[in-house]
Amino acid sequence: MAVFKPENVEDFYEIGEVLGSGHFAQVRKVHERATGTYWAGKFLKIRKNACSRLGLDRSRLEEEVDILHAIQHPNIITLKDVFESRAEVVLVLELVTGGELFDFIAEKENLLESEAIEFMEQILKGLGFMHSKNIVHFDLKPENIMLSDRVAPHPNIKLIDFGLAHRFHQGEEYRSSSGTPQYIAPEVITSDPLSTAADMWSIGVITFILLSGLSPFQGDTDDETLRNIIVMNYEFAAQYFSMTSSMAKDFIQKLLVKDPSERMTAEECLLHPWIKPITRTQVAKRNRSSINMKSFKKFNARRKWKMSYNMVWMCNRLVRLNLLCKGRSEADPLERQCESDVEDGESKPASLLRRRLSSSS
Ligand code: ATP
Repeated sequence: MAVFKPENVEDFYEIGEVLGSGHFAQVRKVHERATGTYWAGKFLKIRKNACSRLGLDRSRLEEEVDILHAIQHPNIITLKDVFESRAEVVLVLELVTGGELFDFIAEKENLLESEAIEFMEQILKGLGFMHSKNIVHFDLKPENIMLSDRVAPHPNIKLIDFGLAHRFHQGEEYRSSSGTPQYIAPEVITSDPLSTAADMWSIGVITFILLSGLSPFQGDTDDETLRNIIVMNYEFAAQYFSMTSSMAKDFIQKLLVKDPSERMTAEECLLHPWIKPITRTQVAKRNRSSINMKSFKKFNARRKWKMSYNMVWMCNRLVRLNLLCKGRSEADPLERQCESDVEDGESKPASLLRRRLSSSS
């Protein structure tokens, strides 16, 4: 069982600049006073009571912390420390300075499939390790695939954000409708029992985008995206995949499979000829094929724009909630508790929304 330290995090770490924000957290650079080392502090607001619309359940945070303790791997973010105050939990994590993998790739002029595969292999190794411990991420998407250091000759992948991750116990049936529409597996939408295969579907979607700059199931609305997933409405449009090897398409086709039990596992992916070629012809094919950089850059620019838009939308919602709670504060005790949620210290966009197939597609 993870230890949540009751001490004040600021007695041990100096809090620095904001590195990023999500639905649930604000992440800041922190400086360890005793050693001078830099870390990333993930500040998460705890939900105070059942009526509260802000923050996360403590039990959810315990699960995230337990999972992070259980998966120590070079391609997965490391958890150093956990602090807890009345309103907040702070996870002290390994600092990742290389930014998102997709941003790193989008800055390049061109990229061979063989170079993209080096990254895919690391993602699959991290994932395979998690899956061997019966832990599923359930929120794999470009924003959660980072690089530890982008100036290294072979940058190291770090998987982050285990906020939706789950550890399966023997015989357990687990269902969840959380995730990000573009990347979620059909069984999530249909509320069927889930398994490690849900992550493998997301890997299929991420690989599809990486190679073509096209999101396979993206509709004009989240509902349309979900419908496209359910009916498996995707194709390798020739104008986007003209530079792609047949092995890469085969790799994707073996992941975007409706029946989770028929999908490749992370271990099987690592043995697929696209990742681990056996013949010289296979090696040559990977070196002749490249990613569709023009289209990929467009996809990434749109993705970044949507992320900023969503952040503004969340901030506006926070302001509206704040006003709402204030307006009703004299009404009844439950609503006053709601008010105390938003007035408690600095209100951050983090931890605001409980995500249910929501807004970040
Ligand atoms: P989401 O809304 O995607 O579920 P979240 O609220 O759970 O997000 P994270 O995804 O863990 O929060 O972190 C939010 C952002 O903070 C990330 O997208 C990333 O930019 C930054 N970040 C997270 N962890 C680290 C880290 N260890 N080092 C550097 N930056 C980080």
